[in-house]
Amino acid sequence: MSLYEPMLRHLKSRELFGAIDRVPALGMLVSEQTFEVSNPSTGEVLAELPDMGVEETRAAIDKAHVAQPEWAALTARERSDILWRWHQLIVDHTDDLAAILTAEMGKPLAEAKSEVAHAAAYLQWYAEEANRIYGETISPPSTDRRMLVIKQPIGVVGTITPWNFPASMVARKISPALAAGCTIVLKPAEQTPLVAGAMFALAHLAGFPEGVVNLIYASEGNTVGRELCSNPKVRKISFTGSTEVGRLLMRQCSDQIKKVGLELGGNAPFIVFDDADVDAAVDGAIQAKFRNAGQTCVSANRLYVQSGVHDEFVAKFVERVRELQVGDGFDPGVAIGPLIDGHALAKIELHIADALAKGGAIRCGGGRIGSDGNFFQPTILSNVSRQMMVAQEETFGPLAPIIRFEDADQAVREANDTIYGLAAYFYASNLKRVWRVAEALEYGMVGINTGRMSSEAAPFGGIKQSGIGREGSRHGLEDYLEMKYLCMGGI
Ligand code: NAD
Repeated sequence: MSLYEPMLRHLKSRELFGAIDRVPALGMLVSEQTFEVSNPSTGEVLAELPDMGVEETRAAIDKAHVAQPEWAALTARERSDILWRWHQLIVDHTDDLAAILTAEMGKPLAEAKSEVAHAAAYLQWYAEEANRIYGETISPPSTDRRMLVIKQPIGVVGTITPWNFPASMVARKISPALAAGCTIVLKPAEQTPLVAGAMFALAHLAGFPEGVVNLIYASEGNTVGRELCSNPKVRKISFTGSTEVGRLLMRQCSDQIKKVGLELGGNAPFIVFDDADVDAAVDGAIQAKFRNAGQTCVSANRLYVQSGVHDEFVAKFVERVRELQVGDGFDPGVAIGPLIDGHALAKIELHIADALAKGGAIRCGGGRIGSDGNFFQPTILSNVSRQMMVAQEETFGPLAPIIRFEDADQAVREANDTIYGLAAYFYASNLKRVWRVAEALEYGMVGINTGRMSSEAAPFGGIKQSGIGREGSRHGLEDYLEMKYLCMGGI
């Protein structure tokens, strides 16, 4: 029986059905051990996958290492053409990829489709960008020397991705690396390896040469991560996940001074000033807070609302949040799916209990829904203060804590008072305030009068302990290129 048998029932396409079933045979060393992947809405086991370890990771790294010089030696146009084909296959299989995503991760099907479109957009962007890798010439400081800078691929890249955006994180990391001429070994999150497997199957149909893209299924990250960090054939680690694991990977890479790209946790402030359009701010807060059930690194974690609009904002926000339907992502009309697992439920419950003990008030929601599946009501807390856990830590769930403020400068200072620096949002109309606050917020990305800002055309990433490097845009490509200075004498 196929390792994927239960999941294959979710697929319409015979082509993907066949391709995905062959994934374990696509030249990977396959372990005897297996692990299960299940649906967080129903608990149904979707697939049983080979659990790979050091030996399989080493074999994949060796293949990527052998393939890399030949991949880099193709013309930019040839690499671009394969990325285009992969993009088209992903677009053609959107429905199936989205169904796999909803089954293994829980997000509503419409959100899953939009994530697949977002993933495809990265492939399209970097298929184009592959043709735009430029060097420099330098005005010569002496008459007999000429100086230039060329860009070359870093080499083999080890990538580790999280479960919250299992398709777009894969595309966002792999596509610039491949466009640059790197080869990759990818380990997806153990909760959501199936959509990565399906994308990998489509990559093979697109015609990537043997060894260029390599997938490692594993039931945990530590073993594979250590091998990727310590193996000298891997020249860069690109990781998206928690700050804690990012810190560990950086330490593990330090012996070889290996390059790291890190997209880590956040604690995004969402500030509504007195001069904001309150209805637009409510729309933005719904998007920034409740998309993906609040399980996004750019999720609005702390909502600061100025006194003049506080009561109006809270009343309208509560009304809208009460309308959000929670349930199985396959059910039409569902806006919020389940949380990924029991740990996520326990964390949101802890944050709510801590806030209530310290004077917080529940304005809507506040508890689990049913006992099957990891469903939690979208929840709004008011009377929140800085001492509460919910104001200090990333909740990663559908919980919106509201902090009332009087003094705008004080709110910005508090918004910056965190170890994180990924995303921030604010709503205001006064032009001077818009500029001043945008400049004062210590974050890699600032949404001004919008609750959504991810785009393949823009540099995504954080400062402080939210990470190193950027993904997306031409800057994302640079992170996979080395700069080499050439100096020619005797001219
Ligand atoms: P996580 O760090 O536990 O896991 C992420 C990945 O790391 C998984 O593939 C996991 O298997 C692997 N991993 C776990 N332990 C490892 C180890 N010791 N060595 C190597 N790999 C290991 O994070 P998570 O709970 O899956 O994801 C949520 C976190 O990711 C949140 O903090 C969120 O903010 C962050 N995130 C950041 C971004 C961003 O772009 N900045 C995007 C999505 C998620």
